[in-house]
Amino acid sequence: MKQSKFKLWSILLILILLFTGGCSKPVEETQGNTEEKLLVYTSFYPMYDFAKNVGKDKIDLKLMIPPGVEAHDWEPTAKIMGEMEKADVLIYNGLEMEPWIEKLTASIQSDQLIIVEASQGTDLIEGEAHEDEHEEEEEEHGEYDPHVWLNPMNAIKQAENIKDAFIQADEVNKDFYEANFKEYMDRLNALDEKYKQELSNAKRKEIVVAHAAFGYLTNRYGLEQVAITGLSPQEEPSAAKLAELTEFAKEYNLKYIFFETLTSPRLAQVLANEVGADIAVLNPLEGLTQEEIDAGKDYITVMEENLAALKKALGE
Ligand SMILES: [Zn+2]
Repeated sequence: MKQSKFKLWSILLILILLFTGGCSKPVEETQGNTEEKLLVYTSFYPMYDFAKNVGKDKIDLKLMIPPGVEAHDWEPTAKIMGEMEKADVLIYNGLEMEPWIEKLTASIQSDQLIIVEASQGTDLIEGEAHEDEHEEEEEEHGEYDPHVWLNPMNAIKQAENIKDAFIQADEVNKDFYEANFKEYMDRLNALDEKYKQELSNAKRKEIVVAHAAFGYLTNRYGLEQVAITGLSPQEEPSAAKLAELTEFAKEYNLKYIFFETLTSPRLAQVLANEVGADIAVLNPLEGLTQEEIDAGKDYITVMEENLAALKKALGE
């Protein structure tokens, strides 16, 4: 009898200790100055990677367009539109890469959301002329080529725009975001130097690519891009266009026809067979596959792979 009473008391005591112990924990956390992380939504991969490098562990980062999905093809789901109500920052590229963005932002009921059009202030080039295409197709593209991130100088500007938004949303951590941005800018400048150096001795400057995504890259490094399709990968080239490309590839004795990881290599293969060239990947970074992400690839490593592919294609 006595023993069981003692047991009961000790169980009660343990419960009280556990309970009070449990209670004291959140108090410690608030004393530890761990503010809530910024909830950040990004549209497609480079926006995600730039935000990650600037915000690091101070942000809770979401990629809206899932791995393996081509950015030009995607539309937001009702689920994502609902989740966005709680977001602090929304980052998108702009220039019609995300034709759904206006519909999305109009539907969000939030007075705290900071919206960043990351291409603001980048050096723009005009979109390719689409002489023989339907008018409705032309309307789908903006006036400018949207693929600004493929020039590392524009990537720096995009990361800077993202940094400014994080500071606006979270002033307390200004120095943290500034330092991360500076560090990332140094890496992007080093990438740019590497491109300039390693492409300076290229034997030729012409490349044939799957869709016209590389205008900013070829402009920056003195190359010339000819695309199988237009600014968006869905456009099918005409027979005349394919004949013209075959001519071009033969004239410049091209050894490689480039294709992308997220779209079919069929047309590149047809063209390569026609001119006796091989096919190789040139990645426009509109999205990475899950395998690429699992392998630890990011904007800088993929751009380095692109450089290696270009050197091989232009030097042989
Ligand atoms: Zn594109």
